[in-house]
Amino acid sequence: ATMPALLSTIANAGRHGVLIKSAVVLERLAEVDMVALDKTGTLTDGSPTVTDVWPSPGSGLTPDALLTLAAAAEYPSEHPLARAVVAAARDRGLRVPSARRFAALPGTGVTATVGGRAVAVGSPARPPAGRPEPAATALAARLEEDGRTAVLVAVDGRAAGVLGIADQPRPDAAAMVEALAGLTGAAPILITGDNPRTAAHLADRVGIVDVRAGLLPTDKVTVVRDLERSGHKVLVVGDGVNDAPALAAAHLGVAMGGVGSDLALRSADAVVVRDELASIPTVIALARRARRVVT
Ligand code: ADP
Ligand code: MG
Repeated sequence: ATMPALLSTIANAGRHGVLIKSAVVLERLAEVDMVALDKTGTLTDGSPTVTDVWPSPGSGLTPDALLTLAAAAEYPSEHPLARAVVAAARDRGLRVPSARRFAALPGTGVTATVGGRAVAVGSPARPPAGRPEPAATALAARLEEDGRTAVLVAVDGRAAGVLGIADQPRPDAAAMVEALAGLTGAAPILITGDNPRTAAHLADRVGIVDVRAGLLPTDKVTVVRDLERSGHKVLVVGDGVNDAPALAAAHLGVAMGGVGSDLALRSADAVVVRDELASIPTVIALARRARRVVT
């Protein structure tokens, strides 16, 4: 009676808020011995807020004008940072014009044309366009030391300003990290496209020591493959388009359902429906129990 046992475990996982796509996934879940966690949207709550708006003195832009251009370019993006920029513009009562020729570079940022101007918003590690002036670089570093994410804005190929964005760890992140370490016998690692300073700050708050930062989507795959080549069965948890390749490459991929992008949901083997992180160690334990019953 293995099939009924598996099906009842899948149903039970569903009651704990984890949608498991097939019985094979259950077996793989039981084998997991290491977990790699994405930062933004996974360990953090996915609803970041803009805390700083700094136009470059040479840009001739007011803070509101800078935020308006950035929000217009970010409007089509489903990235949590993009949602924060758009919300900040709305909160200030700014009218956000529509953008054309939108393009997203996963793990890097976005570009679009806004009212005839080429706007780019993205990571200081891979500046969208133009070389940021020393004051912008210094501000970005300060924000990052403080645990915030800095994004640069460029207009028509020239540095135009910096936005600071703050993101909170989910309330159950630290408890989950501890539970996963206990279950797998290996400390979970952080894999993020964000910068090392912001990543270290967040890792410290949730109890992660091993931090891999500044990763492009393909770098996340490389990290996972290297761990698996050294004998680990890795569970990747992520939410973004930038996590999709790693979710697909890993022994097992779990996507955050509440904030997750469509591509992440499709690339994953299981989905955390209500974004309750505690349900991840719970279903690993369930899967192991089911395996003992079956074999
Ligand atoms: P994570 O791996 O932590 O989920 P991402 O790989 O999605 O982070 O993003 C990495 C970095 O790329 C962000 O910290 C930010 O600097 C930049 N970035 C990515 N997407 C955007 C966007 N839509 N707007 C601004 N910056 C972005
Ligand atoms: Mg993410």
